[in-house]
Amino acid sequence: MTNLSSPAPLDGWTHIYSGKVRDLYAPADGSDDYLLVVASNRVSAFDHVLEPPIPGKGALLTALSNWWFERIALPNHLVSEQGSAPAVPGEVRDRAMLTRKLEMHPVECVVRGALTGSGFAEYQRTGAVCGIELPAGLEDGDELETPIYTPAYKAPLGEHDENITFEQSVELVGEEVATALRDASLQIFTAARELAASRGVVLADTKFEFGNDPRTGELVLADEVLTSDSSRYWDAAAYHDETLSRADRLASFDKQIVRNWLASHWDRTGEPPVLPDDIVAQTYARYRELYVRLTGGEPPYAPVAV
Ligand code: ATP
Ligand code: MG
Repeated sequence: MTNLSSPAPLDGWTHIYSGKVRDLYAPADGSDDYLLVVASNRVSAFDHVLEPPIPGKGALLTALSNWWFERIALPNHLVSEQGSAPAVPGEVRDRAMLTRKLEMHPVECVVRGALTGSGFAEYQRTGAVCGIELPAGLEDGDELETPIYTPAYKAPLGEHDENITFEQSVELVGEEVATALRDASLQIFTAARELAASRGVVLADTKFEFGNDPRTGELVLADEVLTSDSSRYWDAAAYHDETLSRADRLASFDKQIVRNWLASHWDRTGEPPVLPDDIVAQTYARYRELYVRLTGGEPPYAPVAV
């Protein structure tokens, strides 16, 4: 992974970790109750963080996550900014989620409504995904009659996650929690897929993360939800258009443009080249299009000129 320079310091918060895309901060007063999750404008592909960032991306994904949280009828980790919580600094307000700090379950709760990516690769090798046998003859991108829950072990920070069976998830978190994770994930996915379909978008697959709130013992939906970084969305009209190539039918609403450009301008050795302005603009436009399609509204901030 490319090394990251430390993000800007935030008043009242201590920087504790940066993933490829997000920066985490703990309250500077030492309280263990809150966590500030700031989505940066960084974009990553092939395990590298690329230059330059995509202006507007962090705010767009944060707004989309918030939009979905409002529509999911399960407890989530968002905290309203009042009471004892430290203030969210103005300079990151539109990219930040103020959350209650949870004990995260080490399971990435992946749900697939269509078979593609690593799930399709595993199916080709074994005829199954995460121990779930699937009918023979499925092709890349085929929708599944019933969505399947295909958990992954959430490897320690920075390492690669690993697909596991439901039984292995039971070994990790116990039967009761494993079952609750699976049922909640399938329930949210099914409702979200229906909503997306009504907006002309196919929700192919997604990943949720949950934690335990040690103060209440409650299972809480955390992290980002149903953003194009954690989910694969396809345009429904393209998906169903048999005259298009498979790649065009399955063009995702995220950094596909970046991946395609890199694939033809970089041999994947050494540092990746700097993205040209038009690729940056097109990538932002693609993220934005998903937001507009799903929510029917404009992103809640001034978009960059594209
Ligand atoms: P990658 O760059 O591959 O995504 P990562 O998952 O380690 O790596 P992030 O996704 O940026 O990096 O980090 C977010 C981290 O915060 C995840 O480990 C996630 O489980 C954790 N997290 C999200 N919400 C909460 C919460 N409310 N309480 C505690 N931890 C949380
Ligand atoms: Mg992550």
